[in-house]
Amino acid sequence: MTSCVLAKIVIAALPYATDALAPVISEETINYHYGKHYQTYVDNLNAKIENTEWEGMCLEELVKNVPEGPLFNNAGQALNHQLYFLQFRPESQAKTEPSEKMRQKIDEAFGSVEKMKQTMSQSAGALFGSGWVWLESDDAGKLSISLYANGDNPVRHNRHPLVGVDVWEHAYYLDWQNRRTAHVDALWKIIDWSVVEERMPK
Ligand code: MN
Repeated sequence: MTSCVLAKIVIAALPYATDALAPVISEETINYHYGKHYQTYVDNLNAKIENTEWEGMCLEELVKNVPEGPLFNNAGQALNHQLYFLQFRPESQAKTEPSEKMRQKIDEAFGSVEKMKQTMSQSAGALFGSGWVWLESDDAGKLSISLYANGDNPVRHNRHPLVGVDVWEHAYYLDWQNRRTAHVDALWKIIDWSVVEERMPK
């Protein structure tokens, strides 16, 4: 994940064109979500850490250590969105099946890949207000799914974030309106397991 030598927190370059995730995520949504919302979290974070003890610290360390409040909200959202946008690939390129090793871990935790996906969708549907659903791992590689309010992130809770579903309405409302769980089901078409598996604890 992020190295800890960055002097400035910058938004991650998209590894695909802005229209490449359609129809699951439209170009219009990418333009707002990546170009405006994510950029704003990063800009706010940089403004808040400038000339403080936090300046120069990498994003994960910030998310682990800063106090609750506006600084944490923006650091959490900067990390959430970096992981979110980098986990996708166009439908024609995404590796949409987990490796055998990963599938075994999913089976151990949830019974099957299908049940894991159902739990992600149900969790997203159940989250009241704005937040995130994460497939995550502990240090030993045991998987779980957790709900996080607002800008909270698994690294704050000593977990490794693997797959993030943004349940803020700005992530899906232009394309899916109130059909939140249908949106989450469709995300699996563009989630790339080779990226996800790189996030497992080594
Ligand atoms: Mn978002």
